[in-house]
Amino acid sequence: MSVNLLDFDAAGLTALLAEHGEKPFRARQVLRWIHRFGQSDFDAMTDIARSLRDKLKAGASVIPPVIVSDKLSDDGTRKFLFDVGGGNAIETVFIPEDERGTLCISTQAGCALDCSFCSTGKQGFNRNLTVAEIIGQLWQVNQALGADPRRADHSERIISNVVLMGMGEPLANLENTITALRLMLDDNAYGLSRRRVTVSTSGLVPAMDRLRDECPVALAVSLHAPDDTLRDQLVPINRKYPLRELMAACNRYLQKAPRDFVTFEYVMLDGVNDSDRQARELLEVTRKVSCKFNLIPFNPFPGSPYRCSPAHRIRRFAEILIDANIVTTTRRTRGDDIDAACGQLAGQVLDRTQRTARRIIDLHEVRTP
Ligand code: SAH
Ligand code: SF4
Repeated sequence: MSVNLLDFDAAGLTALLAEHGEKPFRARQVLRWIHRFGQSDFDAMTDIARSLRDKLKAGASVIPPVIVSDKLSDDGTRKFLFDVGGGNAIETVFIPEDERGTLCISTQAGCALDCSFCSTGKQGFNRNLTVAEIIGQLWQVNQALGADPRRADHSERIISNVVLMGMGEPLANLENTITALRLMLDDNAYGLSRRRVTVSTSGLVPAMDRLRDECPVALAVSLHAPDDTLRDQLVPINRKYPLRELMAACNRYLQKAPRDFVTFEYVMLDGVNDSDRQARELLEVTRKVSCKFNLIPFNPFPGSPYRCSPAHRIRRFAEILIDANIVTTTRRTRGDDIDAACGQLAGQVLDRTQRTARRIIDLHEVRTP
């Protein structure tokens, strides 16, 4: 039996090697080779005793998900498609900016939560990604971007920020997400600061509490509506964890968060959630939470029933929040020429729910003139 070492964080690898009589520092060495130096060949791990290298060769491997396509957008955004087997593909997007490089990674093949404006949700759900598949996106993209391991003193990393905003709901795959987060933060692996790793959630309240206790990183919450009636429609998980409970969970999270605010994401849907009145209601509902707003222009996808709010509407909506002293940014759409913008990540998912079959009929109806 061969274990994939990409599935293990420091604690896991220490325990694994201890079973073979190896000391904890060996786990740190192996982690450094795999994640900092991007090495998958045990023979190249020169400072590791020959006896351990032989054991690793016999019973372990380093197997990341395979990149099947790599597209570069006009604005420098790069979208990678990974094959994760069984007919499923997931997407990862690298967004270069002047001061940082952000990698947007996926945590599930599809998503079961079915938000009405999200292309991933519309595809249905297949399965959770393994730790190796989550951290493997970072491992692979680091290499594809030509990160030089000798310069890997963390400050010069090409990938300086990670956001869990690709396909899937990270908190619905909590165990694996937390293990992958620990690797991102580990100095022997990727050494990212907690403030530069952001989990985005549609609001799974109990999992938010666990993340806070087990591995607090920066938090973004997909709000999208100022009242329960509308949010129930847009983000169906709201029926289980309504706004009042969600706001309370945000405040509990902030007690241990590395940043002193939560980022509320708000997708701008023309005529649905973008009125002046709704902006004011939003201020009221989030009144007790220290927060910032990130307005996301809606990115259409085939068959989506919504339109993006016009630019003047987004500006006005932002103004109302800013006038109330809430820091508000509007996300620049990046990579839309290669369908890499928020909510356009479709990958390819063999739906195990019945949703896709129904949607194909919907799509057909929309497309047929
Ligand atoms: N499941 C998590 C993280 C992935 S989605 C979540 O929902 O937060 C990342 C962000 O993209 C979320 O804020 C989501 O609401 C937003 N999004 C989804 N579909 C979108 C679309 N079509 N246009 C713009 N943003 C979208
Ligand atoms: Fe899932 Fe997030 Fe898309 Fe909702 S917005 S369906 S939670 S990926």
